[in-house]
Amino acid sequence: ADEALQAGSFWQRSVADDGNLERSISLMGELDAALAADQIDVYYQPKYDLRKRRITSTEALVRWRHPERGFVGPDVFIPLAEKTNRIAPLTLHVLQRVVRDVADWRVLHGSVTAAVNISANLLSDTAFNAQVEDILLTSGVPSTALVFEVTESAAMSDPTSAIAALNRYREIGVAVSMDDYGTGQSTLTYLKQLPLNELKIDRSFVQHAHVNRADSVLVRSTIELAHELGLKVVAEGVEDRACLDFLSACGCDLIQGYFISRPLPLGEFVTLLGEDFKVAA
Ligand code: C2E
Ligand code: MG
Ligand code: MG
Ligand code: MG
Repeated sequence: ADEALQAGSFWQRSVADDGNLERSISLMGELDAALAADQIDVYYQPKYDLRKRRITSTEALVRWRHPERGFVGPDVFIPLAEKTNRIAPLTLHVLQRVVRDVADWRVLHGSVTAAVNISANLLSDTAFNAQVEDILLTSGVPSTALVFEVTESAAMSDPTSAIAALNRYREIGVAVSMDDYGTGQSTLTYLKQLPLNELKIDRSFVQHAHVNRADSVLVRSTIELAHELGLKVVAEGVEDRACLDFLSACGCDLIQGYFISRPLPLGEFVTLLGEDFKVAA
């Protein structure tokens, strides 16, 4: 009952947002069942290194294959899962899948790393962090094969404990990436405080950077800023060649987007690795 009360204001906002209260409520009931019934799948979208000219990493993106509703995208159910305490089991499910898949492709394709999206507020959850460490330590995959992309849909409620958790992950070898850079609540503060290895520039800045003056300035100066701080830069949402060339000229390290590949099921992703995919010079 308490949980229903707490969720009340959220449901109202959700109604205002998309006018579909019933759908949201029943989706949450079904998410638990979906985890148990293995309807939650993980797709992989490559990150392409512009200098090495090969795929060096990949991002795990969750997919829900609903038996009646068909495909439900993460943009719908991740925000709901965050607000209704389902995000921890969901993320652990994804991580478990990822360490298994990384172990598989490492045999043939070496050290292609995998990124898992972690909601910023989860980092303050002690039980969650303990389970993550347990998965990492028992997986047989070195932690250096993993990247945690910190995503932020709401301001971090407890930055101090989140930073402590990230420091701990860094100590055991996990790389830390700041996702959707430029769109969050206090990104410069986080840039200063979080123990980051990588910065991902949000697709809303990247997509038109080669044709839009303001975007091009923001992207170029963000790349410089990140490099000054010793961070690698990933540009997300690269959809065409002209955009790639612009980013390459700006010294961007990695790109991700439909121009390289859409998110792929595991089998297709591994096939792509096997083909030694390259963008023509
Ligand atoms: P994100 O982490 O910023 O992921 C990028 C999103 O942009 C993905 O959408 C991807 O499919 C899409 N995308 C990639 N390249 C392009 C492009 O060239 N053009 C366009 N238009 N879109 C592109 P997706 O898979 O629907 O995921 C949406 C968001 O859901 C993700 O944004 C991430 O914040 C969240 N998410 C996905 N999986 C997880 C997860 O396992 N845990 C958590 N906490 N969040 C997740
Ligand atoms: Mg991400
Ligand atoms: Mg992103
Ligand atoms: Mg984004």
